[in-house]
Amino acid sequence: MTIQWFPGHMAKAKRQALEKIKIIDVVIELVDARIPLSSRNPMIDDIAKNKPRLMLLNKADLADPEVTEQWISYFESKGFMVLSIDAQKGTGIKKIPQLVTKLAEPLINKMKAKGMNPRAIRALILGIPNVGKSTVINRLANRKIAKIGDKPGVTKAQQWIKVGKTMELLDTPGILWPKFEDQAVGYRLALTGAIKEEIIDFQDATVFLLTFLREHYSEKLKERYNLTVLPDDIGEMYDAIGRKRGCLMGGGLVDYDRVAEVLFRDFRSGTLGRMSLEVPGNRR
Ligand code: GDP
Repeated sequence: MTIQWFPGHMAKAKRQALEKIKIIDVVIELVDARIPLSSRNPMIDDIAKNKPRLMLLNKADLADPEVTEQWISYFESKGFMVLSIDAQKGTGIKKIPQLVTKLAEPLINKMKAKGMNPRAIRALILGIPNVGKSTVINRLANRKIAKIGDKPGVTKAQQWIKVGKTMELLDTPGILWPKFEDQAVGYRLALTGAIKEEIIDFQDATVFLLTFLREHYSEKLKERYNLTVLPDDIGEMYDAIGRKRGCLMGGGLVDYDRVAEVLFRDFRSGTLGRMSLEVPGNRR
């Protein structure tokens, strides 16, 4: 599901997130490990201010492991507690309650100092659509929790999911809008499935992808499409890939639309290999 964000929607989403956060001890921010900056909500710092925060780099199975390590260092240097996970397979999920407890230590100590028995730490998951929020919630809950919007017209009451003895998780995540900063951000969001590709110019997004891949993942490109050399010119790259993959029209001309579809699909499915579209300090 892709939500169309209009100013009214954004204001409402912010209001809802602020409302939820009031009763929360720790905010779990979920981003896509392949595009950790482009998949952040632009107002998250404002919305989650004063709350201890855990940043989860999800879909790490699809991201370049080396680049993910760089992102972990990057966010740690900014004072975040960071963890890379694969919510689909469950990798890294077990560490979440431990880190949440660690983040809530000052609060726990405060409760103890007042002679109170520390209660479970309340956490909320925040993130843009399709980043894997429901998948993480289901993993932490160890069962399938209905997704909001599953039943039209039915607004279910929020509930707490017990995660171990020390943590409680709100069963509905906070959905925030993605950035609409510039075209490159839009292309990254579309390529990773965060927004529908119909929203962007498909051919332009593919040129963006090819240009990025040629610079950062030339070996993987060659390997996948069986190319010995990569042409300098993007048009020639389309031709070479199109010929190898049989994306031809009448007269033997390469069908650029089909080449774009192949590239888009191969990237999204991970067939091209584990790749990240954003590198710290290099936002091309
Ligand atoms: P939400 O809109 O943020 O709640 O996102 P969902 O939990 O519905 O996930 C969106 C899509 O991403 C689904 O197709 C999930 O199966 C997929 N997904 C979620 N987490 C991961 C992950 O770690 N790795 C991969 N490969 N796919 C994931």
